[in-house]
Amino acid sequence: MQTNTVAAARDLARPTPLTVVKTQKMQEKPKPRDAFTLDFVCNVLKQAGVATDEMLMTIKSRENNQRVILQKQYGKNSMTQITPVDVISSMGLRLPSDNKHVVTDELIMKTLADYWKLPFLKIELSKLNSAKIVPNLSEPFARKHLIVPVLVSKTMLLVALINPMDVEALQAVQQATKLNVRPVISTKSDVLRAIERCYAEDRSKEVAEKNRNHFRSFIRSAIKDMPDANLKEGILRPNDTGQFEEKHIVNAVNSLLQYAHEQHASDIHIEPKRGYSAIRLRIDGFLHEFDRIPLEVHSSFILRIKALAGMQMAEKRKPLDGSFQAKFQEHNVEFRVSTMPVAFGEKAMIRVLDHSMLLQRVEDLGFSKGELKIFRSMLSHNNGMILITGPTGSGKTTTLYSTLNSLAEREINITTVEEPIELMHEKFNQIAVQPSVGLTFGMAIKHIVRQSADVIMVGEIRDQETAENAFKAALTGHTVISTLHTNDAPSAVIRLTDMGVQSSLIESALVGVVSQRLVRRVCNMCGEPYRPSQSELQALGISEEELVGLPIRKGCGCQQCRGTGYSGRTAVFELMPVTDGVKLLVHDNMAAHLIRKAAIKEGMRTLQDSVIEKFKAGITTSEEVIRIIGGVDLDAADA
Ligand SMILES: [Zn+2]
Repeated sequence: MQTNTVAAARDLARPTPLTVVKTQKMQEKPKPRDAFTLDFVCNVLKQAGVATDEMLMTIKSRENNQRVILQKQYGKNSMTQITPVDVISSMGLRLPSDNKHVVTDELIMKTLADYWKLPFLKIELSKLNSAKIVPNLSEPFARKHLIVPVLVSKTMLLVALINPMDVEALQAVQQATKLNVRPVISTKSDVLRAIERCYAEDRSKEVAEKNRNHFRSFIRSAIKDMPDANLKEGILRPNDTGQFEEKHIVNAVNSLLQYAHEQHASDIHIEPKRGYSAIRLRIDGFLHEFDRIPLEVHSSFILRIKALAGMQMAEKRKPLDGSFQAKFQEHNVEFRVSTMPVAFGEKAMIRVLDHSMLLQRVEDLGFSKGELKIFRSMLSHNNGMILITGPTGSGKTTTLYSTLNSLAEREINITTVEEPIELMHEKFNQIAVQPSVGLTFGMAIKHIVRQSADVIMVGEIRDQETAENAFKAALTGHTVISTLHTNDAPSAVIRLTDMGVQSSLIESALVGVVSQRLVRRVCNMCGEPYRPSQSELQALGISEEELVGLPIRKGCGCQQCRGTGYSGRTAVFELMPVTDGVKLLVHDNMAAHLIRKAAIKEGMRTLQDSVIEKFKAGITTSEEVIRIIGGVDLDAADA
């Protein structure tokens, strides 16, 4: 099969202007069979020997069903049309000539390109030079017709599209640009990616981007207004009364904090380097550079933050801590600041805590239907211990508070013991542990038990005293919910015995263990159907057949998701009910991998099951699955 990737680009350099011969001909005499229908594509595939009669039968019988799946994948509000090529390529049909390979959209488009005698172009985003043409064509037009200008010369315009029989679109481009339009064939995903690239910068700026732009202009003004003497020293000083008056810096810091909150950043890092200061934000668990500011304003920037957090402004040689609150869009946001001296000055880290995010509906935490059923059955015991485990930043606290909040719907007494109290809640009786005055976790629990609490939440089990008192409470008619720092559910048992809790206590009081992680969600603005490569499938331990007809997605990156292809996170869960079979092993002090094996036999839902289900549902990507299961001991799971 001949594909012509470079010829089209080479044509642009020809001295004589080219005309769109093909489209003009069709305009005169459109052949009735040349509509871009499933039948048309099927016929071309058959002629080219890509599809057999048997395959065509399969395609036609599955067409409607496949359209329903695709409609779901693209979402209700998608502007993008579903083409016959999408329908066929998403079926995962094997090539008659080579059973190892499936009929992909690229193969179909190349076959069609040959049929139309047009070049096929694999679009390289870095080589697009059509930015100045783009304003002449609207984005809805480009998306509706799946057409995008890719290369432009003085008189010629190369447009990539999937349907050259769309004469109306080609004419419209010609009229709008006054250029000779030459069509080349590409895949739909390439065309959409190019549209995204061409129009993203042109699109009206989001509110968040406004804050970033404000930030930049405030920094520029601050530098401009800086007296020469201070410029050398690199500092803007508070005035004589100690009042910090540099309004540009004040505004810049405000813009940064607001941007961080809008983007749901969990922390802000301001780090002086040689020659500049880098400001980075952690969003969905990953650090992104927000901006670089000149070192001249770095010290003033840090001073402003220290002033807000009530920290010692003059102390620069010691690590310091402080915090402050701000209100953004009715959300009370807490900023916890810590500073530390480094080679090029003082570095600051600010944790952004929007406590309202800690309360969600249990249904919205990320449990699948089956997982929610297991979790609810753990909660339905009216006594016993439920543990939520996972590393730092795995969303344990959100699960804990959201669960308590759901239990508070009933007329029961909920008491929490915490250090510190993360979220004040009117329905909970909350106790802050104060070891300095002798109020430890263990003491507090003993006290609560006497006060007839129904549900006790213990912030974290860190020592034997806490563990034993919590387990005793769980044995005497209380539901106790707590967190533990372990990687998976079975290890929780081992951690407790290591702490010195008797296995008989664990065996009789532990109802279930939940282990969790957060995975990034595919961005809904730029997510599109995606076929994992062979090596990805291997890493996932999934066969290609398993994925046929499933809405596997991946984001190609847009302004909404800052080009990452991800937006927001959801939790994945390992759920281990402590069944009789599991109890036997706990009783005999068995190793974690043996407990895991028994628990799986008795219906434990593993982290791996959970994340793969989310991948198959198009919620997250293969990349995220590999990141999560890479951290779990798979041999133990298979043993
Ligand atoms: Zn996106």
